[in-house]
Amino acid sequence: MAGHIPFTSNPLDRASNLRHDDDWVAAQLQLAESRFLAFSRLNVLCRQAEATELVWLDGSCLDGLTDYCAPVLLGLRDGVAHFAIDVLDIEATQLGFDGAAFGEVRGIAPSLSAADAGIVAQARSILDWHGRNRFCGACGSPTSVKKGGSSRQCSGCEAEVFPRTDPVVIMVVWRDDKCLLGRRSGRPGGAYSCLAGFVDQGETIEEAVRREVMEEAGVVVDEVKYHASQPWPFPSSLMIGCFAHAATDEVHLDDLELADARWFTRDDVRRALESPSEILTVPGPVAIAHHLLSDWSVGAEAQGHTEPA
Ligand SMILES: [Zn+2]
Repeated sequence: MAGHIPFTSNPLDRASNLRHDDDWVAAQLQLAESRFLAFSRLNVLCRQAEATELVWLDGSCLDGLTDYCAPVLLGLRDGVAHFAIDVLDIEATQLGFDGAAFGEVRGIAPSLSAADAGIVAQARSILDWHGRNRFCGACGSPTSVKKGGSSRQCSGCEAEVFPRTDPVVIMVVWRDDKCLLGRRSGRPGGAYSCLAGFVDQGETIEEAVRREVMEEAGVVVDEVKYHASQPWPFPSSLMIGCFAHAATDEVHLDDLELADARWFTRDDVRRALESPSEILTVPGPVAIAHHLLSDWSVGAEAQGHTEPA
């Protein structure tokens, strides 16, 4: 990849073996050096300096709080436990930090360090999952946190449920020196991006790419090549970036999802990556679409590509 993709560089050791030991997790919660990253309504506590910095609390900051969800162990860094904690509707000032505020993750991600953005992606997704799984989907009884937050267990039927990640394919559909981009309904005139969609049950990545491109634009895709991926914590997707070679070029729009889909040249894309225009504006660097298009604009799709017979 030519550029760094946000949310991809989480430095924490997830401590998968250690977190199964409830006593070990409880001990980490009590250690003075353990660190806590607070979220309110899935926004993260941070401070604006030259760059945006995460504000890590120590356990003492939690003592004054009356209402928060069980901390979730994110992992270890240099042997120090790092937790995420949902402090519900508390204001940043109530945590005793001047100049700190709860920042919306998508907005602040570009100004975070790569490591911090990676940690925030994990934390936001896992806290969202806990918030949505407080009751058992099978019997409706309350569930509680297990294994430092890597699962929940039902108090009624004892079923254990695990966090899930939703795979999404996102692809630069290309043919010769052009790529096919779509504009969603409600988006302004020049705002085009890669086609994308959730992987369906019982479907491979390649099948999902071909199905989505056919459904949304009526274009036949033959060869699909994986290129790069990105965790996307809104709430919990894995974006699977591909190059998809088009066998046909006539566009038949699915008017439900896309307002328009059209072919753009490599030069069009290069210009749009440098400066947006009324003709073409592509997503910014927070999104993997930007990086897929950037790499395609310099020919990355051809590396190892063999034309279909
Ligand atoms: Zn149950």
